[in-house]
Amino acid sequence: MENVKTDELGPLKITYLHSQKADLNAVIVVDNTALGPSIGGVRVSPSVSALEVARLARTMTLKNSIAGLPHGGGKAGIIAGPRRADKEHMFRVFAKLIRGLDEYIPGPDMGSDEQCMEWVHEETGRATGLPAEIGGLPLDKYGATGFGLSECAQVACPYVEVELEGAKVALHGFGNVGRAAASFLAKKGAVLVAASDSQGAVFNGEGLDLEELLEIKKGTGSVINYGDATRMGAEDVLTVPCDILIPAATPDVISMDNVHSIKARLILQGANIPATNEAEQELARMGILCIPDFIANAGGVIMAAMEYARKTAEDAFKAISDRIRQNTYLIIGKSRSENKLPRTAAEEIAKERVFEAMKARDY
Ligand code: NAD
Repeated sequence: MENVKTDELGPLKITYLHSQKADLNAVIVVDNTALGPSIGGVRVSPSVSALEVARLARTMTLKNSIAGLPHGGGKAGIIAGPRRADKEHMFRVFAKLIRGLDEYIPGPDMGSDEQCMEWVHEETGRATGLPAEIGGLPLDKYGATGFGLSECAQVACPYVEVELEGAKVALHGFGNVGRAAASFLAKKGAVLVAASDSQGAVFNGEGLDLEELLEIKKGTGSVINYGDATRMGAEDVLTVPCDILIPAATPDVISMDNVHSIKARLILQGANIPATNEAEQELARMGILCIPDFIANAGGVIMAAMEYARKTAEDAFKAISDRIRQNTYLIIGKSRSENKLPRTAAEEIAKERVFEAMKARDY
């Protein structure tokens, strides 16, 4: 495991799990709990590392803070293929082993879903993103994060002189976040021109038929089986001609290797940490507005926190709209008036709230 760097915010606790018998290897990072018990998803991936989990946990600290939630940031990574045959057993063992780690409240993330959260909840009594049948607000089924991205787009578009009605959208990742973002953006008149998944991508500058694409993804498992489009590599969607680019899959896909080929005027970070720091600075120099992950994709965790506080889906959607719109205005305004990256402007606001809460605690 790589060395995770620490700073004034955390991480507070790093826990490694290993069970040879259950074939389970996992890491949980509780980054900061000054604002309350940490909330963050459980990522299941063969390549997830302690460093990635720590970076994601920090993103959650900032995201939960700026969204005004009574929660700190945490994250878990289970090092396994997402379609393992013994997934239920693996999750139940994972849950049993984190029973005492009550500063961490799990939620769904890449490779985990509401069913996994139900198993965790049965074993520990704490999890978010639960099925509706047991009183949860299944945030992926509701498309909470995609809804938040569409609200963010509505606020950000005028700053880059893009009309959302008719705007061309490219999506890297057509999972829970990508599909919901496409659907909510389509309701606001935007046109999906490209979409990718782990098998590849399709592009049609005139627009893809969203209903058909959703059917094809569901029926065949991949967007690449969509007919009326040019096929390309998954990463090629990042550089197609479009107005709005939404990375909604894996970390660090926008880097110095491809940043100069990006043609979008607005990037909404649906995925967590989808761009390297250098690439984000370069995007700003190129005049491309990039709304950072912990503002743009906060819809999921806002709904998770509302579920934890026993609020309704209606309350959750209102909170997502209000907070994401307000924060998008706030950080674009601050970044322009103080000549800072949107991420820097957002981090300053988020950290201030955490530091205030830390003053009241002795750790
Ligand atoms: P998901 O597992 O439902 O979907 C991931 C998608 O990415 C799939 O379509 C998969 O095929 C695709 N993908 C994987 N590797 C790829 C690659 N190399 N190139 C192109 N596509 C690839 O996951 P999700 O819930 O949609 O989450 C996506 C991202 O959004 C993650 O970074 C996650 O942390 C972040 N996020 C999710 C939520 C949420 O509410 N689900 C909230 C905030 C942030």
